[in-house]
Amino acid sequence: MGHPLAEFTHGEVKKSSFLARQKFGIFIDGHESATERYYPVIDPATGLEIAQVADASAGDADRAIASARQTFESDPWAGMRPATRERLLINLAQLIEKHGDELAAIETLESGKLLGVAKAIDVGSASEYVRYMAGWATKITGSTLDLSIGFPPGVAYSAYTRREAVGVVAAIVPWNFPLAIAIWKLAPALACGCTVVLKPAQETPLTALRLAELVMEAGFPAGALNVLTGSGSEVGEALTRHPGIDKISFTGSTSVGKQIAHAAADNLSRVTLELGGKSPMIVMADMEADVAAQGAAMSIFFNQGQVCTAASRLFVQRSKIDEVVERLSTIANAMKLGSGFDPESQMGPLISQRHMQRVMAHIEEAKQAGGEVTAGGCTEFDRGYFVRPTVFINTSAAMRINQEEVFGPVVTVTPFDEAEEAIQLANDSAFGLAASIWTHDLHQAHRFIPKIKAGMVWVNTHNMLDNNLPLGGVKQSGFGRDLGHSAIEQFTELKSVCIAY
Ligand code: NAP
Ligand code: MG
Repeated sequence: MGHPLAEFTHGEVKKSSFLARQKFGIFIDGHESATERYYPVIDPATGLEIAQVADASAGDADRAIASARQTFESDPWAGMRPATRERLLINLAQLIEKHGDELAAIETLESGKLLGVAKAIDVGSASEYVRYMAGWATKITGSTLDLSIGFPPGVAYSAYTRREAVGVVAAIVPWNFPLAIAIWKLAPALACGCTVVLKPAQETPLTALRLAELVMEAGFPAGALNVLTGSGSEVGEALTRHPGIDKISFTGSTSVGKQIAHAAADNLSRVTLELGGKSPMIVMADMEADVAAQGAAMSIFFNQGQVCTAASRLFVQRSKIDEVVERLSTIANAMKLGSGFDPESQMGPLISQRHMQRVMAHIEEAKQAGGEVTAGGCTEFDRGYFVRPTVFINTSAAMRINQEEVFGPVVTVTPFDEAEEAIQLANDSAFGLAASIWTHDLHQAHRFIPKIKAGMVWVNTHNMLDNNLPLGGVKQSGFGRDLGHSAIEQFTELKSVCIAY
């Protein structure tokens, strides 16, 4: 076997002197250093090794937190003017744009996603979000408050609130949008004056390490961002149990989110949990079948279905369901799978062999339970982790495929008669991340919005995120919000000030 990168034709990968290094240490206090243990990062399109990356220990977590604490407490960071933080964030946004092709290529290589998606969504939204948060750095405000205290006679009071940086942040992120989700934590944390220890997912550590270099190049002090690659059960857990962490901002599965909430309890570290979903998409009979089928395909097959808000449960009003299923299945059957670097590919591989096996186990179980496949339902190619886009009919709400997050390109389609029934079906889930309704009837849409139990509702679209639109869930989808102004609240504490005069 030759150099693993010889597998790829994309020029940017070959050009990247970063990737050519092949072995990556731990990034603490502004520089990378060698370590004893490494683990392999795998290209999910081929199953081949891309690089060796440090497998950080609990001791490394201590050092990273100490660096972040030291930087947080001392100048220049502690006393930095907001306008200077703004300028540094703009530098970072420019560097992400300058190195956008390289970052996108690394992202495609380690996650398998389509290069076009990596460029437009992962890298494009990351640099825009850094710019968006640069703007907030100078606009963090409290309120002035009128008080009613009547004592002692003759004394008056003036009061206000301040928003102050929460402190040292542990940002723990998943592999589905590695760079973008790291930036959802990093950019607001830095805008607020926090420092960050970032734990990327084991599968996708490389863009986080390249990002750390760019953060230093932008002029942030050493220790503003430390990166601990390695396992969640070791270094991740060490981070969440550490008394030196003031805030944990987590995006990932519901089960790990619960472990983190327990771990954080002892120190009462602040926690934000962006967890899984089982999001419904409801199609009313007045919606054109083509529009609904195209929308459903985008909402469940985008990024191989590895999207927290993916519309994995499709409910269609009975008179339209056959037409929608037929068109959705036609779209699914025609989709071309392949390497994310191949411009012809419409879907890449799943993240790992283990995940592919998990998704296939869900599919097999649903078939056994009586579910009928109208598209996909199988893997493709003899290497890499490819699962065909899959459409199920004849499943019931109680089946595991409709209750658990599959996190793959698998959708179930279920009929309903009245709108009320659709709302009941949609809410019959432990999760509450997102939902959409597709209709031309404004009355219907407006009635639906308050009744649906989710942190986000779309009408006639799905999966549309924006830097200014808060993202997060209710129920088992977690609490707290990324993006928008809510992110500033996530990384600040409110201090009340009362002055007698
Ligand atoms: P995951 O298994 O929960 O892992 C997420 C991160 O947590 C990884 O970095 C993981 O490290 C780490 N981790 C694992 N165990 C830990 C522990 N005990 N203590 C501290 N950290 C620990 O999730 P995933 O499979 O990477 O990502 C998919 C999930 O993310 C899905 O459930 C999806 O819905 C969710 N997600 C939610 C949102 C949202 O905004 N709500 C957005 C995107 C994704 P390892 O790499 O070692 O596992
Ligand atoms: Mg994992």
